[in-house]
Amino acid sequence: MAWFKKQRKPIEPPDKQSRVPEGLWVKCPSCSNIIYNKDLAASLSVCTKCAHHFRLSAAERLKSLFDGPWQEYDRGLTSTDPLKFTDTKPYHKRLDASIASSGLQDAVITATGAINGIETSVAAMEYSFIGGSMGVVVGEKITRAIERAIARRLPVVIVSCSGGARMMEGALSLMQMAKISGALARLDRARLPYVSVLTDPTTGGVTASFAMLGDINIAEPKALIGFAGPRVIEQTIRQTLPEGFQRSEFLLDHGMLDAVVDRRELKDVISRVLRFGRSDAPRPEPAPQPLLAETISDQ
Ligand SMILES: [Zn+2]
Repeated sequence: MAWFKKQRKPIEPPDKQSRVPEGLWVKCPSCSNIIYNKDLAASLSVCTKCAHHFRLSAAERLKSLFDGPWQEYDRGLTSTDPLKFTDTKPYHKRLDASIASSGLQDAVITATGAINGIETSVAAMEYSFIGGSMGVVVGEKITRAIERAIARRLPVVIVSCSGGARMMEGALSLMQMAKISGALARLDRARLPYVSVLTDPTTGGVTASFAMLGDINIAEPKALIGFAGPRVIEQTIRQTLPEGFQRSEFLLDHGMLDAVVDRRELKDVISRVLRFGRSDAPRPEPAPQPLLAETISDQ
C-alpha cells in the first residue's frame, strides 16, 4: 500500500559548503575567543583578549623583527640523508614532504637585516619542518650566520622553536650542538652580542646548546622550555613535578632566563639590548686569550 510511502521528498540538507570562507576566523585555544584573522596578524599572532601566543612560522618571525626586507642566506642547503635512515617511513620521504609543505629546504631561515635600525644576523627556526629539529643543515646554517656576523661585526639573534636534535641524522645532529656552541664562543671573543629568543617549544639538544647560551636569554610567555619531557623526568626522579614546570615564567623565577617578554614588545626589547651591547664608547683592551686559543692561532 502506498499509505506508508513517503510521497513528498524530504527537505534537502543545506549546501555542504560553508558560506564562511575557511581560515577567516581563528579560535584561541586558551580563552576560546574567536578572532578575525587580520586582527590576529596585526597583533603578531597574539590573542587580543588573553595574550595567548600562537606559533609563528620562521618567515613571520623575521617579518616581525626586521624593519623591512631582509637578505636571506644558504637557502639551497639541504640534507643528504647521510644514514639512509628509515623509521615508520624513509627519512628522505619525510624531507620531501616537509620541503613541499613549508617551501623551505630545512628547519631554519638565516638572514641579515635591520632591527630598529641595527643591522643584525638573525636565525629563525621553523617548527612545521620535522618539529623544527636540528640536523646538519640547521647546524651549518646557524654556524654560517654566526661566522657572517663575526666577519661583518654584527650582533646575532637566534629564535629557537624546536623539538631538539633530529634523530634521523643520529650523532651527526648531536655534533651540531658543539659546532654552534664553538661558533658562539668565537662570537663572544669577537666581543659581539648574542640574544637568544626561546619560543614555544624549545626542547632537547637546542635547549642544551645554543638556546641557553645567549648573553641575554629572552622567552615568550608560557613557552615550553626544557631538555627532557616532564613524563621522563617524573619517572626518573619519582616525584610529581610542580605546577607550571618547564614554562617560561617558572624558569624565570628559578634563574634560567633573563626575561619573559610579550611578542608585541620583543622587537623593541631586542633592539634596546643590542644598543646596550654595542656602545660606541671606547672599549677596554681585550682580555688575554686563553692559552689553547693562542696555541691554535700561532700555528
Ligand atoms: Zn585568547
